[in-house]
Amino acid sequence: MSNHYRILVADDREDNLGLLREWLSSQDYYVRCARDGREALDLARRDPPDLILLDKIMPEVDGLAVARELKKEDRFTTVPIIVLTGREDTRRHAIFDETGADDLIMKPFTFEEVDTHVRTMLKKREVFRALERANEELRQANERMAHLIQFDEKTQLFNYRHFMERLADEFKRARRYALPLTLLMLDVDHFKNVNDRYGHVAGDGVLREFGRIMVRSARETDVIARYGGEEFVILLPHTTAAHGQRLADRIRRSTETHPFGGGDGQGPIRVTVSAGVATYPINDRLRAPDDLVRAADEALYHAKEAGRNRTHVDGRSLVRLR
Ligand code: GH3
Ligand code: MG
Ligand code: MG
Repeated sequence: MSNHYRILVADDREDNLGLLREWLSSQDYYVRCARDGREALDLARRDPPDLILLDKIMPEVDGLAVARELKKEDRFTTVPIIVLTGREDTRRHAIFDETGADDLIMKPFTFEEVDTHVRTMLKKREVFRALERANEELRQANERMAHLIQFDEKTQLFNYRHFMERLADEFKRARRYALPLTLLMLDVDHFKNVNDRYGHVAGDGVLREFGRIMVRSARETDVIARYGGEEFVILLPHTTAAHGQRLADRIRRSTETHPFGGGDGQGPIRVTVSAGVATYPINDRLRAPDDLVRAADEALYHAKEAGRNRTHVDGRSLVRLR
């Protein structure tokens, strides 16, 4: 164990302080000294040490008050505090409960005793720190998990699972408040050819770039997800089919003119996209979330059949103006 731990010692008696400082320094600890409680708090907070030794009785702010104040702060929960108190102190065991201090050394003490207590508490400090690291790793793992559950790794758009959850929620809301809910389904045209000609890695890049085109074109409240493969969905709450159609066409035109990267020596990759649009509850045959997906998918099929690079709106989803 390296002895370059930083120890803060607080004692109002200069002789005690001097002895402890000299002895701890001779053990290769890095020692800082405070002559009263206020200075101890100040030094500890300015640069938290690895261990704190506090004399119980000091004028004004005593050792117990220092321990109590520091242990209220998160960053000191992992810094052991040892209180120095007299052998005649009958309330010494209450110190742990009252202040959150970690250990006691009874005066008068031998250096062997101080050595044992200091070493034990520094071990505790190491265990605290290992726990902290483990907690941080766990927190990060949980964060990654939470991200994986919601997002598609390739495009960083929402994934199928999250889309289905949001669809169920938005469907309920639309039903309750009689609001239009529009679904766009978009599929890259002849994407197989892109893979065949430029390779899968370039194909992946096209999917990512296409994702960014959709994000740029839509509103923040729109739910953009990768439905699977080269198929994407955009869920538009409070939105009519006519608005959905306009968004689909905006995306379609941006895609058609966008020079996708990854073509290497062959120049930019060019792709087009087809879209299907359906809206609940304008089309009264759509009674469940799945019906809306099916209607958008059928509309997409019509767009493909009609020659691709176009938007088709489910006929019953358009509000007819009289
Ligand atoms: P269509 O216009 O009818 O949609 O033709 P298409 O070639 O786009 O459709 P098809 O369903 O025949 O082929 C889809 C292709 O998309 C085949 C599959 O290998 C490719 N694909 C699916 N997911 C990915 C992916 O994550 N990365 C890459 N590079 N290709 C993918
Ligand atoms: Mg396709
Ligand atoms: Mg497809």
